[in-house]
Amino acid sequence: MTAKTPLPTATILGYPRLGRRRELKRAIESFWKGNSSEAELTATARELRAATRARLVELGLPAEGGAVPESFSFYDQVLDATLALGAIPSRFSDVQGSDLVTYFALARGDKDHQPLEMTKWFDTNYHYSVPEIDERTPFAANPAALVAQVAEAAAQGIESRPVLVGPVTYLLLAKASDDAGEGFSPIDRLDEVVAVYVELLGALAAAGAGWVQLDEPALVSDSLSVSREEALALVEKAYAALGGADSRPQILLTAPYGDSSAGLTRLAALPVEAVQADLVRGSLPQQALASGELARAFGEKQFVAGVVDGRNIWRTDLRAAFAQLAGLKDAGISVVVGTSNNLQHVPHDVNDETKLDARLKSWLAFADQKVEQVAVLARGLAEGAAAIEPELAVTEAALADRASAPGVHVDGVRGRVGAVTDADRNRADEATRREAQEGLSIPNLATTTIGSFPQTGEIRKARAAFGRGEIDQNAYDGFLRDEIARVIKLQEEIGLDVLVHGEAERNDMVQYFAELLDGFAVTENGWVQSYGTRATRPSILWGDVSRPAPMTVAWSAYAQSLTQQPVKGMLTGPVTILAWSFVRDDQPLGDTAAQVALALRDEIDDLVDAGINIVQVDEPALRELLPLDADRQGSYLDWSVGSFRLATGGAAPEVQIHTHLCYSEFGEIIDAVDGLDADVTSIEAARSRMDVVEPLGDHGYSRGIGPGVYDIHSPRVPSIDEQSELIRIAAKRIPGKQLWINPDCGLKTRGYEETVASLTNLVQAAKAVREA
Ligand code: GLN
Ligand code: ZN
Repeated sequence: MTAKTPLPTATILGYPRLGRRRELKRAIESFWKGNSSEAELTATARELRAATRARLVELGLPAEGGAVPESFSFYDQVLDATLALGAIPSRFSDVQGSDLVTYFALARGDKDHQPLEMTKWFDTNYHYSVPEIDERTPFAANPAALVAQVAEAAAQGIESRPVLVGPVTYLLLAKASDDAGEGFSPIDRLDEVVAVYVELLGALAAAGAGWVQLDEPALVSDSLSVSREEALALVEKAYAALGGADSRPQILLTAPYGDSSAGLTRLAALPVEAVQADLVRGSLPQQALASGELARAFGEKQFVAGVVDGRNIWRTDLRAAFAQLAGLKDAGISVVVGTSNNLQHVPHDVNDETKLDARLKSWLAFADQKVEQVAVLARGLAEGAAAIEPELAVTEAALADRASAPGVHVDGVRGRVGAVTDADRNRADEATRREAQEGLSIPNLATTTIGSFPQTGEIRKARAAFGRGEIDQNAYDGFLRDEIARVIKLQEEIGLDVLVHGEAERNDMVQYFAELLDGFAVTENGWVQSYGTRATRPSILWGDVSRPAPMTVAWSAYAQSLTQQPVKGMLTGPVTILAWSFVRDDQPLGDTAAQVALALRDEIDDLVDAGINIVQVDEPALRELLPLDADRQGSYLDWSVGSFRLATGGAAPEVQIHTHLCYSEFGEIIDAVDGLDADVTSIEAARSRMDVVEPLGDHGYSRGIGPGVYDIHSPRVPSIDEQSELIRIAAKRIPGKQLWINPDCGLKTRGYEETVASLTNLVQAAKAVREA
């Protein structure tokens, strides 16, 4: 092992990587379009890495000793590990060109290759590229990118800390490739992968790296193929080997995104030099701490206490965090101040926001402010609480101000939530509703869409022009009305049964509502990477939520006025609104969800009054927010399902409530989906060829169900035969009265040409099956 220098007492687990002005996004997309060379792209990347390191030092992380993490990625950290391990799936072995060309081929596919699948990273809205592993996947250390970063940092006078997804998490996030044999699981290859990590560590040590960070969030999740307890045993096995390597940097093992307290003493006993725990979502093992057992396990090793929240944008309660750190120090533990997780999930800098209310701004901390908070706490540990008393006092005042600011606690909103009873969450029974809804005259195998129609260049242009004040409200509304009229006419021509207005007015399915509800604020530059070069700007839910005025009624009512067919109203559900926003941390999520639910409940009332008899409430994030920790899943499902029922519970039996859930892997939450008590649920099913109808049939699911009959993720037009075949598969298990025919998801990312062709085939396919 290289010389032992302890980690400085301030560090973070990672930093946003698209750049303050999303410069990496622009550089990569220009390279993809062929407008710039690989050399130009790598030069921009190098500059961005240098600027990031310099910024972190400027914000207070020491330049020496490995406090500054290498945070860069061209696309995704799991894909980086795939390249570092040389684990290129055989179906890509014919890709010609540089490592970067291969990398982007895996990420995005090319004309001969489907890309790696993408899926959500733990319980975040970030997507990673899923490794494909089988018995023959090659593994060979490819440390070039990691080593180059160490050298770049050194040239800048900074000793940085390379970061890599750890071997256990890597394999648990992988899927068995299509070539894998029956019963094969990627984790079966742990020993071989660990051997490659040993080589990578050797190369890093040779390059002069004093520290390396290995992230093992598998340690906090019960949602992978093994439980947390089993993941811990695998980590023990893997790190015994890694720790024993002849030549390696010191290892910081991290367990972000959740609670690792049950295994912390065992992690501390591993042959690594530092262990991190997320103390925002997780906790400390209080007994082991009090008895001295934890301190004994750590010995001289360092404990990176993740006290600054990397998932949210609120200022840390520095006084509380400091007390926790001081307690660890007093217990004899060598403590380093850290973040709960990589700051990739928060935007760069509050100071880039020019339009946010000044008072709200004073409560916030984006990535840069969080680094400063880490540095302040570290100074307090070194110099004593008195040295940071001014900073503690400032955050305390900000927190007190937040607690008492108008809008944060609104009596009317609280009173209403307080008065909610079980009855508000219960509609008439299913049979009564079915009968009452006969009046809607919905045919068997009814055809519909999920809501959005293509967001064309013209729509985006009109929205941008309106945003810049180049066209006025009247002109913009007129434009949207014309768009709605066009979409209604098109659906009538195609022959769909239940129509939609097309969602042209929505920039985003959450932000649209956030802009219209009280209690939310939106940012100008608060970008957060969603995947690859894509970023979203989550809204900030800071206060009690209420609805000053109807939000969607005018659009839906206008659409309904143009047609005799029923038009479905379209809302985003409370759980999804919370999941894709930064939410307040001063009350339980369930309380916040209930407020949003009541606002939606009023919206449904108004829609119905305006003549809309079918309302869809989308909840694509229901599964995403499911806690990683199995012990917390029950109470999550209670409040999330409860908030959906509160939103929809006021609908009369004649009103048909739909929901849409996106994914099809809801085996584990099928009871919850049933519990939503929606009359009709649409889900993704085409790619899995209706896999989901089997379990639904077994479950005795009695409600309406719309398993998607065509994949909207690609422009390919599925034929009538192809769609009717899927419909027949579904119809074997689900009676025609219950079965709805729709695409997998909304059509906003598609073009009109393929949309019209695919929907025309969908209607014909439904007709063919109906008449057979
Ligand atoms: N109604 C939304 C749409 O059609 C649903 C989107 C989603 O599920 N993500 O776009
Ligand atoms: Zn969807």
